[in-house]
Amino acid sequence: MNKYLDDFMKTFPYEGLTYDDVTLVTQYADFLPDDTSLETNLTSRTRMKIPFMSAAMDTVTEAPMAIAMALAGGIGCIHKNLEEDDQAKEVAKVKNYLNGLIASPVCFHADDDISFLRAEKRRMGLKFNGFPVLDSEDRLVGMITSSDMRFAPMEAKKLRDVMQPAPITAKPGTSLKKAYDLMRAAKVGKLPLVDRNGRVVGLYSFTDVQRLVENQNPTYNCDDKFRLRVSASVSGGKGDLTRMEKLADAGVDVVVVDSAHGHSKGIMDMTKYIVKHFPKVDVIAGNIATGEAAVALAKSGAHAVKVGIGPGSICTTRVVCGVGIPQLTAVYNAAKALRGSGVAVIADGGIKLSGDVPKALAAGADSVMLGSVLAGTEESPGEKIYQNGRQYVVYRGMGSMAALKNGKGSRARYFQDNEDEDNLVPQGIEGMVPYSGHVKSIMTQFCGGLRASLGYCGAKSIDELHEKGKFYRVTAAGLREARPHDITITKEAPNYRA
Ligand code: IMP
Repeated sequence: MNKYLDDFMKTFPYEGLTYDDVTLVTQYADFLPDDTSLETNLTSRTRMKIPFMSAAMDTVTEAPMAIAMALAGGIGCIHKNLEEDDQAKEVAKVKNYLNGLIASPVCFHADDDISFLRAEKRRMGLKFNGFPVLDSEDRLVGMITSSDMRFAPMEAKKLRDVMQPAPITAKPGTSLKKAYDLMRAAKVGKLPLVDRNGRVVGLYSFTDVQRLVENQNPTYNCDDKFRLRVSASVSGGKGDLTRMEKLADAGVDVVVVDSAHGHSKGIMDMTKYIVKHFPKVDVIAGNIATGEAAVALAKSGAHAVKVGIGPGSICTTRVVCGVGIPQLTAVYNAAKALRGSGVAVIADGGIKLSGDVPKALAAGADSVMLGSVLAGTEESPGEKIYQNGRQYVVYRGMGSMAALKNGKGSRARYFQDNEDEDNLVPQGIEGMVPYSGHVKSIMTQFCGGLRASLGYCGAKSIDELHEKGKFYRVTAAGLREARPHDITITKEAPNYRA
């Protein structure tokens, strides 16, 4: 509990504050920013290495974004404007990205000439050795390793003369960890998976398997089978029950029951349904902006709630409907209501610069969801366009006219089930953001900014920031002072755009 924060927020009854309304107070630190931890709760059951999630939007997150986010230690949420099967395929792409299993390994036949293998390797540009060798009916009979090739006797002609017969194999479906243990024990570099008919259905290579199991890159956000974690969004109501099944079959880790108004029966019913029928899947429900709604979603079984009604860069909900609560207050209210429950809070929307992130976290969020910040990256699915010699990427609201027209997911998010385009009422706009390179460099800047902030605030971790973060209210003059002023910017910084 953070008494200072409670006292500060009490001075603004019925007044909504957002990120630019406050600044964090510096506090004594006996450590350096590099010594801080950015680990946090994604949900009440799952931790992640950095507090960042990419938005469930059709111009932000499909497999490439979700892969890049998970490699950086965060997570991506695949949007629901895709058809059910296509969304499940995107999930599977992320789950299979690091599994170390080569699904269709290059094989040769025992009667092939050694010179043929060498020529094929050259033709295909293969740098490795280690090939399954098959008989005339395509059943595995041996393995060729680099030593077999290097030490092949001069008189040997056919692969059957140099191959290792009766190689060690494993059954289809063998897990990465099991493969690692088997390969270590048998000291083999390749492990073919062979079905009942003797056919090769996959191949593990020890170098890949070892990298994953020994986790030589500790930044990845992986499940217990060393596969990248991924999230996907679904709608409330009965329409998305088969979508949910397909996502679970594809291995989704976290589902976001996503709506513009999460404090509603359809979202709560769907949350209960998923929690009951898919106990292995974590459930995030949203979006909400009050403590009452946070408690209601937690009671429905949600492992995390997503906060944000109207703060998004592409959002017109506040002006079209006159509703919503400025984001810092909304996050604080939800986090305060959930204190002690373990249910995590995700601050969704309105993050413009890295300095907004520690403010969201200090107000009680466990992580933040990013739309516009990531929409300009190479990995986003938004169309890349040129204007006046500069590259931009299309970014649109899920409640924009184009998204409503094209996607069932968008129509469900904004409760507009009619197909009649003339009756659609958008709550978002369409636009573009500057091209911003790769997700990895954006995450480097955002993590660096956050670590520096933790250092300034004397907090070694996000949990500690929750305990001791202190805000000051900023005036209009203070906000002007906070941004670069009285200068013409001549060079773009990687973490600031005017
Ligand atoms: P941003 O990070 O400020 O760009 O906001 C992204 C967030 O805005 C998303 O994660 C959604 O919660 C929300 N959002 C997406 N599309 C719309 C829309 O059309 N109207 C209102 N909010 C939206």
